[in-house]
Amino acid sequence: MQDANTTSSPMTTPGGSPSGAPRRNLRALSHNELVSLLDELGQPKFRAKQIEDWLWVKNASAFEDMSNLPKSLRAALSERCTLGGVEVAARQLSSDGSRKYLLRFDDGVSVECVGMPSRNKLAVCASTQAGCGMKCAFCATGASGLTRSLTASEIYEQVMHVRDDFNTRVTSVVLMGQGEPFMNYDATLEALRRLNSPEGAGIGARHLTVSTSGVIPMIKRFANEPEQFTLAVSLHSAVQRTRDMLMPGVKKWSLLHLYDIMGEYVDKTGRRPTYEYALIKGVNDTEDELSALCDFCRDNLAHVNLIKLNEVKGSRFQPSSDARAGEFVRRLASVGVEATIRNSRGSDIDAACGQLRQNVERNND
Ligand code: SAH
Ligand code: SF4
Repeated sequence: MQDANTTSSPMTTPGGSPSGAPRRNLRALSHNELVSLLDELGQPKFRAKQIEDWLWVKNASAFEDMSNLPKSLRAALSERCTLGGVEVAARQLSSDGSRKYLLRFDDGVSVECVGMPSRNKLAVCASTQAGCGMKCAFCATGASGLTRSLTASEIYEQVMHVRDDFNTRVTSVVLMGQGEPFMNYDATLEALRRLNSPEGAGIGARHLTVSTSGVIPMIKRFANEPEQFTLAVSLHSAVQRTRDMLMPGVKKWSLLHLYDIMGEYVDKTGRRPTYEYALIKGVNDTEDELSALCDFCRDNLAHVNLIKLNEVKGSRFQPSSDARAGEFVRRLASVGVEATIRNSRGSDIDAACGQLRQNVERNND
């Protein structure tokens, strides 16, 4: 596998263009940049729409496939641009039908995404950054640090790749792969909008979920976005000391502050936020922790997703028992808080965040 820490820009590829300038990644151009490129090539504006359809709806991987463009335009574009695209560095199939991919971009940086089919649905879990700088103690991605943030098109392409691999429509997307979406806010929002757009993947906003470790200024911003995107917050403890230990990257924002901002979020949007809570034996599954969680969640429209901790090799943390998870559900229900135990999909295929990468790197050592 190539060096995941390479820092070259994902936007350009050396050589190739008639002027000797590096070829530009067509998928990285904004609509206006595309229109002005077409203008330079003496092409009418409507070609931009046709090209965008090939890129964002049909997920074209070759200029020759763009059959409604004149041959001369296809040739001119391929001299000046690349199509970006991803390469599969690893692919694992689970007995439950899930597929997990390690996808590599053209600068050698790779990220994980997962496709999870069920009946006539296909959910995709995608990454927003390569690695993550938030350093959560239980997370395999957090252990390796941040390589770089992804562009909007790199986030979007993961979803298209899974769609094409399953050859079926994607019905929901969760940004719960690698990375902290709210440390890459603009690209994340642009990707969500394209996923939502009828001129893109056409997925309903409520079926597009962002998960954050709790970057408060961005939760505030997110509450003001016009779309009905869904928000999940990784809580993992409602006791300040425990949360600081588990999630040092968000230590500067207190739980009290998070509680207040989530209150504002609910008032503003009327939408139900989800709190993610990975149960860790003896750490956040004690009686005190359960009482604090009940206090944090009652009366604020919360839905709690209890996740069985995915064991990360070399980690000191272990998952709680099923009985303990059941007790959490009962106690939360007794104070009027809805809670579910999340079914861990693909548990036989390095399902936890960051694990596929770890194993591929280990095998390539
Ligand atoms: N950075 C964002 C989104 C990506 S992580 C966030 O933290 O919310 C997606 C979810 O997986 C988060 O809820 C995260 O806390 C959880 N997670 C990370 N490592 C895990 C592990 N080993 N077991 C269970 N859940 C884990
Ligand atoms: Fe980053 Fe989320 Fe992992 Fe924390 S849990 S290190 S925020 S990816």
